[in-house]
Amino acid sequence: MKKLTDSEFQALSEISGAPYDVLSVLYAQNLLHVPTVFAMLIKADYARIKGIGNYKAEQIITALSAKYQVSRSYIRNAAFGRTQKKQYCIECGHEISSDEYTRGKGLCKSCVTKHIQQL
Ligand SMILES: [Zn+2]
Repeated sequence: MKKLTDSEFQALSEISGAPYDVLSVLYAQNLLHVPTVFAMLIKADYARIKGIGNYKAEQIITALSAKYQVSRSYIRNAAFGRTQKKQYCIECGHEISSDEYTRGKGLCKSCVTKHIQQL
């Protein structure tokens, strides 16, 4: 992920309402969560460009992917507010994907297997 530029600090200041100087001091001391900052900037950029009305979602995603040097799925997640919600097996507590959570009704693969073996 690239470093924050002056214009990105200006945009972040407008979006967050935090003064530019405060943000740059926090950034210099590594106290800003940069992925969150980029997600905010991307979301605002996407909304601004979409609001112009001349471009399709995929065109905007391609352009922002190049601008921020991140993947298209990263742009989609930021622009549409999707976050990777962590899920945990309700029996053993292992972290599992949302798909696995849904498939196993809250259980991980190995706990599903254990349940089947007990039948
Ligand atoms: Zn489990």
